[in-house]
Amino acid sequence: MKQKYDIGIIGAGLSGLTLGNSLLSKKIKNFILFEKNTHLKNDKTYSFWSGPGLFDIKKSFSVKPKKEWSQIEIKVKNKSYKINLGNYRYGCYSSESILGELHKKITKEGVKVERGHSIKHFKKNHDGWEVKLKTKKILLKNVIDSRPNKIFDDKYPSLKQVFVGSEIISNQNIFNENVVTLMDFFESNKNVIFTYILPFSKNKALIETTFFSSEINFKQVEKIHNLTLKKFDIKEITRTEQAVLPMSPYIDRKMVEQYFRIGNFAGASRPASGYAFTRIALWANQIKTKKEFCYDMIHHKENYLTNWLDKIFLSVLRSNPKKAPEIFKVFFTKVPISSVIRFLSDQSRLVDYLVIILKLPKLVMLRGLINLYVK
Ligand SMILES: Cc1cc2nc3c(=O)[nH]c(=O)nc-3n(C[C@H](O)[C@H](O)[C@H](O)COP(=O)(O)OP(=O)(O)OC[C@H]3O[C@@H](n4cnc5c(N)ncnc54)[C@H](O)[C@@H]3O)c2cc1C
Repeated sequence: MKQKYDIGIIGAGLSGLTLGNSLLSKKIKNFILFEKNTHLKNDKTYSFWSGPGLFDIKKSFSVKPKKEWSQIEIKVKNKSYKINLGNYRYGCYSSESILGELHKKITKEGVKVERGHSIKHFKKNHDGWEVKLKTKKILLKNVIDSRPNKIFDDKYPSLKQVFVGSEIISNQNIFNENVVTLMDFFESNKNVIFTYILPFSKNKALIETTFFSSEINFKQVEKIHNLTLKKFDIKEITRTEQAVLPMSPYIDRKMVEQYFRIGNFAGASRPASGYAFTRIALWANQIKTKKEFCYDMIHHKENYLTNWLDKIFLSVLRSNPKKAPEIFKVFFTKVPISSVIRFLSDQSRLVDYLVIILKLPKLVMLRGLINLYVK
């Protein structure tokens, strides 16, 4: 006999597990998750902002940060600009601890997470979607798909974020453990390239080399990453992570008869930054706090103004990457940090949009805006 569920979630990653927990809070239990990995991996370092007036993700996910910082730094042409975060914090979390906590809550309620199944095909028949596992068939009324796309959207001004990261131990006490280097820019006419450093202690850090680029070229990223690592007198590399994330303002809202897409490739990822954690947390909370559950809530909704500003940002980055270091410098140093953080955390007030528009270099942004319509 076939097993039957109301909902099948493909992918027990951040969006799938978070949605699972939201469904439980609505007393929906007749669902199942399918995950290709056999066990949880510590393959991502999630970072997000916290502080006054922001949605309390730490409380909502019951997680403690691996480390939090109250100062960030932007480096342009080797000049450092340090910004105090006041009562705000930038914190990082291991994917293993976050996903482990979400997984535990779900399975405690008796929900099954079928691990070790890479779902490639599922077909629709008269009574629902049929998913074939090695030993059984499962029938689902609704499929919620969080698998990444193989093909990236290339429509102007979309970009890809390609990055390689190494957690290292240095032979020297080389890091200022109180300051996150958010962006240390490399000069480039073709791509936006920067180093991101999360210092865990004086001699331990995660160092990432990031490209905002229209192509995916890991060899090029690795070359610059290896050059960068040479600066840190490395004793040991303890962990690595890498990814290509979509930076696209065009959301794929594919919906074919009880089929929904969620996650990075369906609007969870912030177009101008590739960050998705806060969006996923806000989306899950909206589902939790609405009185009645309805399937329309499953889509990640876009905020028109945020998306429009991200489009202009991306247009500038794609058509004029050389200007990026200066624009990011102005953004972080001239706009009040509370407005920056609310904007980056999808929790802007009207005044935040106004101050960002007023402070950013007008001519460059105007060119970006025009390019949106002529390219
Ligand atoms: C290395 C890394 C670091 C990141 N850091 C940050 C950060 O600091 N801050 C931030 O806001 N965002 C960050 N992001 C972006 C974003 O928050 C994460 O990608 C987040 O995990 C997105 O959730 P998701 O559910 O879309 O994807 P995932 O969490 O990747 O979940 C998708 C799941 O689907 C599974 N899957 C894939 N194919 C199949 C298949 N065929 N069958 C079954 N299962 C399948 C995968 O194994 C995975 O578990 C980072 C992303 C990466 C990759």
